[in-house]
Amino acid sequence: MKQLMSPVGVGEKAVRRMFREEAPWDTEDMGGAGPDLDLYEQQLEAIFAPDGLLARHIANYEQRDQQLQLAKAIMASLKRERHLLAEAGTGIGKSFAYLIAASLWALQENKVVIISTNTIPLQSQLVEKDLPLVAAVMADLNLGELRYELAKGRANYLCKRRLEALLLRAQQEEVAHLDVARRLWELKDEVREGDRPSFPMAVPSELWQLIAGDAEDCHGSDSPYFDHCFIQQARRRLSSAHLIITNHAMFFSDLVMRRREGSGIFPSYDHVIFDEAHRIEDVFSSFFARQVTFSQVEMLFRMIRQKWQTWMEDVFDAETLAQLNPLEQKVRQQMLDALDAVGRDLFMPAKPPEEGREMAEDGPAWTVLLNKPLTMPARLEETLTELEQFFRRLLETKAQEEPQRRGLERLLQRAEGLKGEMGFIFGEEGGGGWAHWAEWHVAAGEQLTDLFGQHIALVAQPINARAILPETLFAKVPVTLVSATLATDGDFSFISGRLGLDQYDAFIAPSPFDYQKNVLMVISEHAPFPNVPGQAYERFLVHGLQRVLRQSAGRTLVLFTSYKQMHAVAEKLAPWCASQGRPLLVQEAGGERERLLDQFRREPKGVLFGAESFWEGIDLPGDELQCVVITKIPFANPSQPLTRARLDWIERSGGNPFDEYMVPLAILKTKQGFGRLIRRATDRGAVVFMDSRLVKKRYGRRILSGLPPVRMGKLQDIPAYVKGPDTDGVDAEG
Ligand code: SF4
Repeated sequence: MKQLMSPVGVGEKAVRRMFREEAPWDTEDMGGAGPDLDLYEQQLEAIFAPDGLLARHIANYEQRDQQLQLAKAIMASLKRERHLLAEAGTGIGKSFAYLIAASLWALQENKVVIISTNTIPLQSQLVEKDLPLVAAVMADLNLGELRYELAKGRANYLCKRRLEALLLRAQQEEVAHLDVARRLWELKDEVREGDRPSFPMAVPSELWQLIAGDAEDCHGSDSPYFDHCFIQQARRRLSSAHLIITNHAMFFSDLVMRRREGSGIFPSYDHVIFDEAHRIEDVFSSFFARQVTFSQVEMLFRMIRQKWQTWMEDVFDAETLAQLNPLEQKVRQQMLDALDAVGRDLFMPAKPPEEGREMAEDGPAWTVLLNKPLTMPARLEETLTELEQFFRRLLETKAQEEPQRRGLERLLQRAEGLKGEMGFIFGEEGGGGWAHWAEWHVAAGEQLTDLFGQHIALVAQPINARAILPETLFAKVPVTLVSATLATDGDFSFISGRLGLDQYDAFIAPSPFDYQKNVLMVISEHAPFPNVPGQAYERFLVHGLQRVLRQSAGRTLVLFTSYKQMHAVAEKLAPWCASQGRPLLVQEAGGERERLLDQFRREPKGVLFGAESFWEGIDLPGDELQCVVITKIPFANPSQPLTRARLDWIERSGGNPFDEYMVPLAILKTKQGFGRLIRRATDRGAVVFMDSRLVKKRYGRRILSGLPPVRMGKLQDIPAYVKGPDTDGVDAEG
């Protein structure tokens, strides 16, 4: 266990002053200083002791020293208001460590802690299983009621006013699923939460999106339902909670909102704990993205039409409104023309790619990284200005009620936003810290058509978080970043460098599991290199997997780094699997992961092929998973535009993109893939690497050194570790 509990570079006082004086959303300190750190540590020891308070509530509770040490490290970061980076190996019980520490601190010092996860399953586990137990422990300590709330986005809740408006509209026009809408109206005062699952019937998505909460269409305190609004009630519950559970996506959308509008979804808070923290850079990056698509124009005019139908016709004279139709035609056509021109210039197959503008396949889209500004058509800029002026003129008309004014202000903001995004992306604003690229979303076999511009997206994303997160987050509130995979080469310099977190305490504790005894590792040392052109590696995979599966009779997960390769191998392997009675399940891009996993659990001899999301967040304990095959070292795709831009940026800064970015990222992802195998202390199994670069290349050995020590062996050793459904027992010593 490695523990560094002193701040790096900056004294404690300087950091505290920065948080307390400049943090705009700090809660008022109502609880005084609270217990000192020694007392908190004594409380933690009493809770985590073998016969302690947790043992009263958890059957067969086992004390783990690493869990207590992690809880103490988190408590120190809460109490001293310092940032903490913590890697806690699988099985330590990190969620109880941070929930208990955060609850003790929040209850005794009247603080608010946000706990953010990347995945819904972890969020559900915290709220449904762990927190009721933690609340019981806090009650045993006579610390009072622990209040915790799951924060969900607006679109999860029914908007009573929108539902009423839909039912009124149904008197004049046909409305789909009217019977369900009427039933919702009858039940609206009987349910507590008001989210979709709280209603006893299935609500079709087509209907839900018309009646769910929508910031653009909320009348706020002018709404007749404001006092009984589900969203307002949820916000009130959040504002009295000690712990707010959310996900990274919602956390960053709140942060973006605070940055733009000064306030967000969450009430004031004092500390943020990110679990699954290895994902925050990606989530951050997508939430700070800027984008231009034709569908944004369509959405703007859909909103205008909706307001037109509901009240604009009654307020403005026909002459004023008549200006809108030709304006809409102009905006639509010119926007389509602009995107079409960009798309044809970049993606027309006949045109040879310029240097630095190669097309790359990236999932369902083709992409081109832009290396110089595009030309924003002057006509379009003028037309968008005209649209803004149109809304300004409407706003100057006095005869409007407050909700209507707010609605117009939102339309104006949308129009300004569209012009701002166009200017930002076309002009490559944001400096070298941003990646700008174009995407062509193309369906299989699709040809260029007159509507080509509809399939083009122009995107800009920050290349790394350094330019934004230190100022918007780390300077305002202390954070704890925790994950089973956060460190590379034994420290946090990679992740802290990417995020711009320069001062932090560090804590690393390995998993308590006995990998040496329970895991066999086999490496295909003679496999052809996967990056050599030709089909040799794919042929090797097809034959090599047959050899692995002959030895691994139980459920086997095969992880790929590319959907294309996964489907090519699946197609060739399927007849063999069928002949051997091995059900082959293959992930589809965008397919439902949980459904496939349920199917896999029902197939004792199942073989599951997965890419991307299957590398992490999958919990298949015991014989639900006995063998993991990692086909290739999971390097990021260097032709993906954001990755390309990051590599270029490191090179421009004088660094080595491969050593400083590609390898550390591969270390973290390999740890994630490997971590799928052993989920409980009693689990046992084999991991097979089909990439000889792991032993033949210097970076391969660096990647391997990030994994816990295991027994190395050959394919023939696998049956001693993998119990097939027809096998009676397993040799415990291998
Ligand atoms: S306050 Fe807004 S979200 Fe709530 S019911 Fe009224 S319009 Fe809907």
